[in-house]
Amino acid sequence: MRGFSSSFFNRASRALLDHSSTISKLLLISTISGGAHISFSEAEHGSNAVETFSDVTKKKKVLVLGTGWAGVSFLKNLDISSFDVQVVSPRNYFAFTPLLPSVTCGTVEARSIVEPIRNIIKKKSGEIQFWEAECIKIDAANKRVVCQFNDEKLLEKEEFLLDYDYLVIAIGAQVNTFNTVGVMEHCHFLKEVEDAQRIRKSVIDCFEKASLPNLSEEEKRTNLHFVIVGGGPTGVEFAAELHDFVHENLVKLYPKVQDLVSITVVQSGDHILNTFDERISSFAEQKFQRDGIEVKTGCRVVGVSGKTIDIKVKSKGETYSVPYGMVVWSTGTAARPVVRDYMEQIGQTHRRTLATDEWLRVEGCDHVYAVGDCATINQRKIMEDISTIFSISDKDNSGTLTVKEFQDVVDDILVRYPQVGLYLRSKHLHSVTDLLNDPEGNERKEVDIEGFKSALSHVDSQMKSLPATAQVAAQQGSYLAACFNHMQESKLKPEGPLRFRESGHHQFRPFQYKHFGQFAPLGGEQTAAELPGDWVSMGRSSQWLWYSVYASKQVSWRTRVLVVSDWTRKFIFGRDSSRI
Ligand code: FAD
Ligand code: MG
Repeated sequence: MRGFSSSFFNRASRALLDHSSTISKLLLISTISGGAHISFSEAEHGSNAVETFSDVTKKKKVLVLGTGWAGVSFLKNLDISSFDVQVVSPRNYFAFTPLLPSVTCGTVEARSIVEPIRNIIKKKSGEIQFWEAECIKIDAANKRVVCQFNDEKLLEKEEFLLDYDYLVIAIGAQVNTFNTVGVMEHCHFLKEVEDAQRIRKSVIDCFEKASLPNLSEEEKRTNLHFVIVGGGPTGVEFAAELHDFVHENLVKLYPKVQDLVSITVVQSGDHILNTFDERISSFAEQKFQRDGIEVKTGCRVVGVSGKTIDIKVKSKGETYSVPYGMVVWSTGTAARPVVRDYMEQIGQTHRRTLATDEWLRVEGCDHVYAVGDCATINQRKIMEDISTIFSISDKDNSGTLTVKEFQDVVDDILVRYPQVGLYLRSKHLHSVTDLLNDPEGNERKEVDIEGFKSALSHVDSQMKSLPATAQVAAQQGSYLAACFNHMQESKLKPEGPLRFRESGHHQFRPFQYKHFGQFAPLGGEQTAAELPGDWVSMGRSSQWLWYSVYASKQVSWRTRVLVVSDWTRKFIFGRDSSRI
């Protein structure tokens, strides 16, 4: 037993044996892997329970599910000296998803955008245990999760259990096919690194097939028809990347078929990039038109077979079939099965994603947090609390609220109900007390409860759920880590706003998202950028901004160097078209 002190071993074994009342048979494997002390035990329900020695160290066990944007941001910011941290993910790396579309065409190599999770956790001063496995069940009642690792050599899938004191669910979401027939079997997705690698091979495959002898022109056209379902940022960026790959590199290598290539984007809404500013979506549509990328708006894909894709024109109700060479399906996300099962356990069946409160705690579950794409925040409406806010603010119990009384609680209101700030901005109001003005805009010295209700009655219309983006996920991860880091101090000295429905203050400030803008790369070294303050920029200058932001956002210096050298390689030698 390398480096394993016998006194520690004895204390640890005692702790484990004390803890084994629910465990029928205990097999202690005194393995020290990377300094970690692990025991496997056969539990009542036949699964293997893995226990760490946090009972000895008396640290609370934090279990993180997922190594994506939210999970990694949480881990990077967590002070692990106070916790016993374990991480479970079927993927032993972090992937920089915004560059996945670039991987599909070889602009950037797959390995340049991933960082091994063990590299990331190694940089923490302390120990984090990583398990490459998939969580298949969250057992909230018993505060444990069931995990499974898939050993290809073993026919059986091995299962084990992990206990937690705090669970952080950061497992992202899966592709949403809307149960469309044939999508699972015949379409490519663009969610994981492997998807991007498969797309890259498939594009080259289509060109090679179209170049084979004895094919009619029609057959060649079919092989070179690329369909992208979904006109959101991912679909649009992939279409643009593909167009550049074809026109900058492949036409030189496959000159005989260059005129037969077509790219179609099918979008069910009226415009592509409809979550962006209107100026950006129309710029993108015009650019695609110039580039010869066909955009079919107001159309829904209703089925996909091995050879054709069925498209329904929503306005006419007609459906027609189009032959294709390759389809990429990119139409939003849905909850993963393990999350759906958990939602059923905790009575959230009517929802699409896990609901959390503003502190990212899963509603109806103690000590369970959810961050990133797997969850949405259920923001409390101010109108639900309006009477209590009024009575707390009316300190002299006069039945009316003066401007001064309102001012005393305004800061707490703005933090607890961020929709108030958004409403003020949307109405171009400078001061919160302007809300108390009468409908004609005249100042009022005081308002009664009815006046107060009508003053705030439209504020909740500003509540929006946050987008499923890396930006949101990363901010949630670091926010939650900061809460964990202050867990003890904030119990004594709460950091949050007034509790309007109970006494005292909230332990923490609620999560607040800061939007730093978004990009839509449109190909041909042109990018559309939407920056805070309604600022929109389109063209080559934004492309340079895109390069610098994405280089700076890399998770490590290693990936930063790799990505920048891939871009340089592309400028000098073009993209590689080998089908490997
Ligand atoms: P993910 O990053 O998806 O991570 C989920 C993690 O959970 C993974 O490690 C996964 O392996 C693991 N996991 C899955 N199942 C289990 C399980 N059962 N048990 C344990 N672990 C599990 N956002 C932006 O802000 N800007 C962009 O430019 C942008 N571009 C994008 C381009 C593409 C092609 C895609 C697909 C997404 C893009 N996004 C972008 C969105 C962004 O990637 C997601 O919002 C973000 O990844 C969400 O982070 P997450 O941590 O919730 O989930
Ligand atoms: Mg009063």
